Amino acid sequence: MDQNKVSEYFGDMTFGLAKMREGLPKDSYNQLIKVLERKEKLEQKTADAVAQAIKEWAVKKGATHYCHWFQPMRGLTAEKHDAFIDIQHSFFSELRVTERFSGNQLLQGEPDASSFPSGGMRSTFEARGYTAWDPTSPIFIMTSGRSRTLCIPSVFFGYSGHALDNKTHLLRSNEVLSEAAIKFLKLLGDVDVRGVTATLGVEQEYFLVDHAHAKKRMDLKLTGRTLLGAPSARGQQMEDHYFGAIPTRVMAFMDDFARELYLLGIPARTRHNEVAPAQFEMAPIFEEAGIAADHNTLTMEVARQVANRHGLMCLLHEKPFAGINGSGKHCNWSMSNDKGENLLDPGKTPHQNLRFLAILAVVVKSVYDHSDMLRASIATAGNDLRLGGNEAPPAIMSVFLGSLLSDILETIGRGEVATASRDEIIHLGVSHIPQIIRDSADRNRTSPFAFTGNKFEFRAVGSSKNVAIPVAILNAAIASGLDEATQRLDKKLQSGEHRDSAIIELVKELFNESKNIIFSGNNYSAEWHDEAKKRNLPILKTTADALPTLINEKSNNFLLKTKVFSKEELASRYHVKVENYVKLVLIETRVICQLVRDFVIPSVEKQLIQSQKVLNGAHTSALKTSYTSHIEHLENTLADIMRSLNDLEQELMRMESLDEKMLLKECAYTLRPKSDTLRSYVDRVEQLVGDKFWQLPKYRDMLFSHVFS
Ligand code: ADP
Ligand code: MG
Repeated sequence: MDQNKVSEYFGDMTFGLAKMREGLPKDSYNQLIKVLERKEKLEQKTADAVAQAIKEWAVKKGATHYCHWFQPMRGLTAEKHDAFIDIQHSFFSELRVTERFSGNQLLQGEPDASSFPSGGMRSTFEARGYTAWDPTSPIFIMTSGRSRTLCIPSVFFGYSGHALDNKTHLLRSNEVLSEAAIKFLKLLGDVDVRGVTATLGVEQEYFLVDHAHAKKRMDLKLTGRTLLGAPSARGQQMEDHYFGAIPTRVMAFMDDFARELYLLGIPARTRHNEVAPAQFEMAPIFEEAGIAADHNTLTMEVARQVANRHGLMCLLHEKPFAGINGSGKHCNWSMSNDKGENLLDPGKTPHQNLRFLAILAVVVKSVYDHSDMLRASIATAGNDLRLGGNEAPPAIMSVFLGSLLSDILETIGRGEVATASRDEIIHLGVSHIPQIIRDSADRNRTSPFAFTGNKFEFRAVGSSKNVAIPVAILNAAIASGLDEATQRLDKKLQSGEHRDSAIIELVKELFNESKNIIFSGNNYSAEWHDEAKKRNLPILKTTADALPTLINEKSNNFLLKTKVFSKEELASRYHVKVENYVKLVLIETRVICQLVRDFVIPSVEKQLIQSQKVLNGAHTSALKTSYTSHIEHLENTLADIMRSLNDLEQELMRMESLDEKMLLKECAYTLRPKSDTLRSYVDRVEQLVGDKFWQLPKYRDMLFSHVFS
């Protein structure tokens, strides 16, 4: 195998369809394909044959253990390893060890899952959770140091069939979306359409910091972000990092990172420096949504591991450093039919154009109808620090279409058929459908949900988030929009309307009902906030404001109707999310208090003693004056710190007696702002204390030491 040629080793650590075809008896392989096409249920015989083939491959690759790899609600992945070994007792009780892996072991596992969050859905005495193989996602081998483990992508559910993970909802939503899209496409005239899949390309942003620095920052280790730190004199103001030359040390990491991803069959394509110093991005080629979501969680895991090997810490947090850009995870989303045509590609024929316009209008309407739930789907403690900042789309959902498409839809909305008002639009005369040319020049980086030529980009997702839930909710929203559009179009056709004009009529209605969500201006501006209020768009500023949407009956109805979630699942997810958020903010608050007591105050004291010494020995009145004022400044700031610290500690005590609902609000509107106040004093004092006394690595060390190599 040529180690330098990606095409030769791509997917070497995965057991996908090609290897199945090689390793399986023909009838088992054929049955498996039918299962994947959702035409048949998996037979025991096939499962056994698949397990056998997988075992042989995995053992040859050096795997000693296997695990059902799944994504519990808390967002990370989970795995419980079992060895392949089986023991046979032979004569004289000598143990004979063989490798064994059966169809049943492949299909289902029962981890002792009582400690996974279930939001009250499982009482502990009935704490059974099951994992089941998801054959749509390729099996892979994870390497960690010298150990290799066969990982079986799985879903995770409770005894009564409720999902306890993220993936199940995504899989359900893919199916629902597919069915709804097929029905709609058939009405549009695509009578032979057999399948539709959601496609997803997940751009991952991350920071790299030197281990030597990260090790000394308790806040980074315990909360994933710096809770203190004065800005570096040089931050991102030079705007020279974005797309700049990749530093040698980082390049070595990126090479290794890409190689590991290729071995796992993850089609990493783009890599570059991002806007903030020490910030980078990786983007893959898009895949079917379920696989892309699995691949993104794997990507995060691999990034962390590879960074470790390079003496770096990979920060996936949404806002590791205050004052410079945070990290997002742009979810590029579209749908393809079974011919591989992208349904959001304007296309070449008048029919494809009409189909494009209809789907576009449905997407806009769906996002408009369910913008509060989409907002809730991305709500996390980390993302709150990023949304609404100057680098990330705000917590108000809006859709950007670009001026060409906005113009076309507006013309249709007014009841005028789009005509050749611009060069790009060629009036075809046939069915009054404009020729739409992909408009790639028109970009808006501030929009949370932007059309980018042939796909939508859901930009508001945070960098550490498992994308399964935001994408499941997006899929469900579109599926429900498609269902509604199908009914409306059907009615028009039943009443004898000509198909093309019925479609244009539908586009007109959908656009007029939802145009309030379309916004092409600067989403970061204060005016947009006012404008959004006027338009009655939901403004859910923090996670505390957004999460209750999950259990709001008016908002969540579409999730129940499409069966992507059950009522119990939503309730439990709400509890898990609230608990998570509250715990995180409480941890952050305790950590900042400890850091201030253990590091900051002693540092200031040392500086004070030193400065006092100089003052005592000073001879000139000029030096006396400036040292007196310097000491006064230090003392005043230290007093501010002490006062603010005491206040925060009192608040922490008060929190102990509050219930979940109260805590949720208090975390967002008391603890976070008060921590910020404390931080502002600390960051001020940092600039008054010399390096000799300041015990924590500073922003300039963490952001610049390794990226100028
Ligand atoms: P752009 O320059 O418009 O952002 P890129 O081709 O660089 O486009 O794509 C950005 C991301 O969008 C990549 O991860 C890519 O795989 C993904 N992407 C492209 N087309 C689609 C599609 N049809 N569906 C889902 N994701 C897509
Ligand atoms: Mg980007």
